[in-house]
Amino acid sequence: MRYEAPRKLKRAVALLSAESGVARVLAGGTDLLVQLRSERIEPDLILDIKRIESMHAIAAERGGYRIGAAVSCAALGEHAGVKQLWPGVVEAATLIGSTQVQGRATMAGNLCNASPAADAAPALIAAGATVAIAGPGGRREVPAEAICLAPGRNALEKGEIVESLYLPARPERSGDAYLRLIPRSEMDIAVVSAGVSLSLDAAGRCSAARVALGAVAPRPLRVEAAAAALIGSDLDEAVLAVLAAACAAACDPIDDKRGTVEYRTEVAGVLAKRAAVIAQTRAGGAA
Ligand SMILES: Cc1cc2nc3c(=O)[nH]c(=O)nc-3n(C[C@H](O)[C@H](O)[C@H](O)COP(=O)(O)OP(=O)(O)OC[C@H]3O[C@@H](n4cnc5c(N)ncnc54)[C@H](O)[C@@H]3O)c2cc1C
Repeated sequence: MRYEAPRKLKRAVALLSAESGVARVLAGGTDLLVQLRSERIEPDLILDIKRIESMHAIAAERGGYRIGAAVSCAALGEHAGVKQLWPGVVEAATLIGSTQVQGRATMAGNLCNASPAADAAPALIAAGATVAIAGPGGRREVPAEAICLAPGRNALEKGEIVESLYLPARPERSGDAYLRLIPRSEMDIAVVSAGVSLSLDAAGRCSAARVALGAVAPRPLRVEAAAAALIGSDLDEAVLAVLAAACAAACDPIDDKRGTVEYRTEVAGVLAKRAAVIAQTRAGGAA
């Protein structure tokens, strides 16, 4: 097994593209090292991206923020600007593992690992985040919901690396929130999770919304019917019931010891309702 730690993105892409065997990018390593130690993977090349300086930047861009792929969840959690603009996304980042895990783990790694229960995914999808991918053919930018295709399978092509995530600008009177259900108080993987982002008009009615669910299908889901239920409303009980029903209808969860299909489906609606109300309050609306 070869280990490379280039200082330039171009070199990283060239190394990955030239590798004829199995190659894996190493960011925080909190998933990758566990997979290596348990011999679930045996890569020929490990490509460490942490020496690429640009990957560590959080930069203001077009009213939003661009977050380098090597930025740790801890660093994101301490960034006042991102916290203020996208509190739900930061909430997801700072729920991942423990303080120690957050010191290493990245949001990009969380997305690329492609777990249906990844905490970053629903919050980023709800935020309308995009992912910048560098590869042998140049750079492309895709929505966060396009990254996870199935458990453990992401949409990156050979030689491609996630370079950064972009959290967009948002109108005034906007808020987001992320909630997950775990059987313990921390250090567990979501049984169900929900992210909601919304904006309010001058009258306090919802003018835009995005809703995403985690751990209820083979990949994190954007639920457009749930968002549509919120738009034009002031999130009264009847509307929240429609939102919950739309979430339940989108669920296709597994049945295991951590939660049955019925339980996960029911909880998805409950979490989405609660996240919507928190997002509404953060946007300055009536809770
Ligand atoms: C004790 C513990 C607790 C955890 N708790 C949680 C939790 O509560 N919630 C949760 O969602 N996860 C949890 N995790 C999983 C893990 O911490 C997260 O998924 C983390 O965000 C992964 O980021 P990383 O930088 O460590 O990725 P890595 O382990 O470095 O990489 C993960 C995968 O993504 C690929 N990859 C990473 N970065 C890139 C890139 N820039 N471009 C292309 N591919 C890339 C790697 O090749 C690898 O396949 C936990 C892990 C541990 C060990």
